[in-house]
Amino acid sequence: MNTEKILEKALELEPLTIEEGVFLFENAPLALLSFCANEVKNKLRPAQDRKKVGWIIDRNINLSNICVTRCKFCNFSRSKNSPEAYVTTMEEYNQKISELFKIGGRQVLLQGGMNPDFGLDFYCNLFSNLKKNFPGIILHALGPAEIVFISKKSGKSYYEVLETLHKSGLDSLPGAGAEILVDRVRKIISPAKCSSKEWLEVMHEAHKLNLPTSATMVFGHVETIHERMEHLVKLRETQDKKPDYSEGFITFIAWPFYSLGTRLEKEFGEFPKISGSEYVRMTAISRLMLNNIKNIQASWLTVGKAVGQVCLHSGANDFGSIMMEEHVVSAAGANYSLDSNEMVQAIREAGFEPKRRNSRYIFEE
Ligand code: SF4
Repeated sequence: MNTEKILEKALELEPLTIEEGVFLFENAPLALLSFCANEVKNKLRPAQDRKKVGWIIDRNINLSNICVTRCKFCNFSRSKNSPEAYVTTMEEYNQKISELFKIGGRQVLLQGGMNPDFGLDFYCNLFSNLKKNFPGIILHALGPAEIVFISKKSGKSYYEVLETLHKSGLDSLPGAGAEILVDRVRKIISPAKCSSKEWLEVMHEAHKLNLPTSATMVFGHVETIHERMEHLVKLRETQDKKPDYSEGFITFIAWPFYSLGTRLEKEFGEFPKISGSEYVRMTAISRLMLNNIKNIQASWLTVGKAVGQVCLHSGANDFGSIMMEEHVVSAAGANYSLDSNEMVQAIREAGFEPKRRNSRYIFEE
């Protein structure tokens, strides 16, 4: 195996193997990876969009912090009896969404714990009420783990659950809960969460419904480099199976793991922080490995503005969102923020043209 041959293959948009991904991660110079990832990005995008970088205003609203899953990397969840346990009320949704609309945002990311009191009817009522109260709202909500949870509770198939939620107002399904799609890893960090096979099956059912989805990865904990690449290949293979009429995974976003105060840190000790250069390396390799996913997002929210800007020169074409009220990654030590002006400025500083987009990654301006 050699770096040049693997990169030539990537530049031809041929799928790389897990071993080739590992080889690049361990051997390729970062500048060369970034250059090739940019070439691939440009091949996958229309010529007129190559200097444009998308961004969006959205608001994260947590439905509840009560969760029975208790993942070991999560500082956010609480048991039902905890004095800090809460369930968001309709008055709170109305207030938070009004604030979002006031600053020009339309998309709400609705996430939270696996609350045993929430079933299919609860989510359907919530989504249809929000759609009624806020015409034009876009609901990017739940994730495969919740769909598996609701499916088991209701006795309905993943497809039936997704179809019912979609009819009640679900617009797109976030790729939450992917972490690393290898069960050895999941058994250590989130043993009560859905398996990697279940996560991927839910996404395939969502693709059959033509529901836009995102693919994610949280790395830098107990996984090996081989398992990171296995994760990317599983996403690519699932994307290959999507029906032609469906977008499938519309984007890929990788987040570094922050261990501060988590049970995982108590068990294994402090995890070394993922460096800026390792994040850029993973972004570039993701662009090379995921030859069938159009967009790669640089997660400035978890790595900061400067590293995010470098990612825009290393295969990423999207800068994500002004995330109003983010509580999950910030609870474990990631504390970055940008307002709309700073977001636009950050993209310009990096040498690109900022473009507001919608949740389907279509430019709006
Ligand atoms: S990451 Fe999500 S599923 Fe896991 S414990 Fe936290 S809230 Fe629950």
